[in-house]
Amino acid sequence: MNIIFLGAPGAGKGTQARKLVADFGLVQLSTGDMLRESQSSNTEIGKKVASIMNPGELVSDDIVISLIKERLSNTHATGFIFDGFPRTIGQAGALDTLLDVHDTSITAVIEMKVDNEALVDRITGRYTCAECGEVYHESSRPLLPTSVCIKCGSVKLKKRIDDNEESLRTRLDEYNNKTAPLIEYYLNKGILYSVDGLEEIEVINSAINKILLK
Ligand code: AMP
Repeated sequence: MNIIFLGAPGAGKGTQARKLVADFGLVQLSTGDMLRESQSSNTEIGKKVASIMNPGELVSDDIVISLIKERLSNTHATGFIFDGFPRTIGQAGALDTLLDVHDTSITAVIEMKVDNEALVDRITGRYTCAECGEVYHESSRPLLPTSVCIKCGSVKLKKRIDDNEESLRTRLDEYNNKTAPLIEYYLNKGILYSVDGLEEIEVINSAINKILLK
């Protein structure tokens, strides 16, 4: 089973993807996480990626496609969850070709629908556990007073550089202009399903499970 999560920044793709990893034993491939890893190496490519990601623009198709290609070739799994990939029509075409080479295809594309204004609050208040990636929020899911991750016990919490209002506006523009056309692309293939991304995490999770198990 191969699943794509489609949705604006802050729609909850990563959170739901991690739940599916646990429920279905799939491997999560997040291009955002891979690109952040490439920045921590402090190489020329890492610096270039940072200068594109921090203000909220999309990294070139060539870079992200080669990251996914490499992971698909080197990971043994019964299926993958693509979290934040593809983000352009070019990336979607490349993914179809790559999966074809591996004799597989996309099972379902889950679109997480959210209102853009709700995203500003979600994103600007968001922080995560640096160890396990659990997501928290300054007002809706705060860790105070302990500041200890409830999932893994780490005290290392972090905030993303691009989780500020200005970068978010650019990320939303990039989503609307370059990624939203994928909704029609997958609708035409008959594999698009939409869920309400403003519901509670568990409600969304059961809606997704229902889609995948039908
Ligand atoms: P995310 O963690 O998915 O929110 O991605 C964070 C940032 O990484 C995005 O704003 C882009 O700059 C970059 N990025 C992640 N995935 C892609 C992709 N598939 N194509 C282009 N840029 C990407």
